Amino acid sequence: MAPLKPTWTQPSHPNVQEVQIKLGDYATRSVSKVDLRPFEVLADLNFPPCTKASVATYATVQMGQHEHLSLNSDLVYINHSCEPSLIFDTGNMKVIAGPKGLKKGDELTFFYPSTEYTMAQCFECICSTLSCRGFISGAEKVKAVNPSKLSDSTALWLNKHIAELLDIPGEYPPWEALAQAKALWALAHVDAVGSRAISGEMGGDTNGNAK
Ligand SMILES: [Zn+2]
Repeated sequence: MAPLKPTWTQPSHPNVQEVQIKLGDYATRSVSKVDLRPFEVLADLNFPPCTKASVATYATVQMGQHEHLSLNSDLVYINHSCEPSLIFDTGNMKVIAGPKGLKKGDELTFFYPSTEYTMAQCFECICSTLSCRGFISGAEKVKAVNPSKLSDSTALWLNKHIAELLDIPGEYPPWEALAQAKALWALAHVDAVGSRAISGEMGGDTNGNAK
């Protein structure tokens, strides 16, 4: 996201997020300080510091058809990617790892159209991933250009309010497809799964896994 003057105490999520401030638009990035399995919680979207907002800005996340969330924390420094490492699950008010899990040092990213129907500030994506959608302008316009780019075989996360606004049939969030991705991850990480506490989620940014 664009540089902005923080009104909160920094760092806001020191156990899980390292913000790398760089000059210039969209140059600031965040990296993970923790390893997470698929869908484990990186941070909760609590009130406070979050507040509800009636209009979208570059520092909000859309949480319903007509509701937005001012993050009021370093979570605003999580960039967009077309192959994101994170999911902003606004139905459960949590930021969770994507279906591939998360490793220390990974850039923290999420797919902005998964929460945003229209965007206050559109931009040309430079994520350079194979599935890059190019111009990112909110789910409404991404769908208008190419609907398949919103719901493809990568089991991309869309929040329920976006699927409803776009009239996309089927279950959203797409838990079934995501569960398959998680199962594939588990097969590829048998050793890692065995060596970790696997009951439930880690409980957000207060987990003992961070340095
Ligand atoms: Zn991209």
